Amino acid sequence: MNIDDFDAYKDQCLEEISSLQKTFIELYDLNSYENWFYDHDIGAFHFYSEDGRNLYFKYIDVGSFSSRRNTWMWSWFNKTTPRHVSKGLEKVQAFGNAHGFLPLTEGFHGQSDEYMGWALTAIAATLISGIGVYRIPHEHQYIYFIFTNELTQEEHEALVEQKNQQRQVECGEHGTRTRAAFVCQHLGTDTNVGFYEAFESDPDIAPEDDYQAWCDACELERRKEGEWNEKSEAFAQIRIVCDECFFEIKRNNSR
Ligand SMILES: [Zn+2]
Ligand SMILES: [Zn+2]
Repeated sequence: MNIDDFDAYKDQCLEEISSLQKTFIELYDLNSYENWFYDHDIGAFHFYSEDGRNLYFKYIDVGSFSSRRNTWMWSWFNKTTPRHVSKGLEKVQAFGNAHGFLPLTEGFHGQSDEYMGWALTAIAATLISGIGVYRIPHEHQYIYFIFTNELTQEEHEALVEQKNQQRQVECGEHGTRTRAAFVCQHLGTDTNVGFYEAFESDPDIAPEDDYQAWCDACELERRKEGEWNEKSEAFAQIRIVCDECFFEIKRNNSR
């Protein structure tokens, strides 16, 4: 491969990936799946069809293109992306450094397009030896993925199981619960100190994030600081409780 010139290299990678992709889509009959879901916690992508078929892949999150701002951000530069799903991209950065290819080493591109998103994904997939690539719309963005290997149903279940175990809380009152919550040190089931939460919690709706709540005094502190920072967090001394306790705390402290 010609690796002296970024544009030439990029075009070669795109060509290579497009033929790989054709094989990948045919092999897994990917277009026959109506639905997908990805889970950053375990780094697994799940395709599922209405007739009950499932397909799982381990992935690397490459980055995202904002169609509103026409910007590109590598996942390793994105603070909200968990590090374990951008693992592997160091190889791409190192390659960029060795060849002086700035698009591979600069985390944020102020001027980009969808095509460039595919090109960067193609380069990364070539360097990482991905088995396929994928792109999904997410609000005003496209997120680009590289699939590294297929997961069997059992392997996928094991990852989910592992994740649930990590989330487990042993509560003296309610036993083993699979959902943890975080509350400030002042909140208890027998206190009445006000109740603020990160998002409107509902015991009947599975939250995307962990439950988090704090009291009046912590809210004052947070406002004084303008945010949750070292000082306001030190004041709150967040502790972990089970979800049942969380809703009991909510009932008793809400005003
Ligand atoms: Zn508090
Ligand atoms: Zn509890």
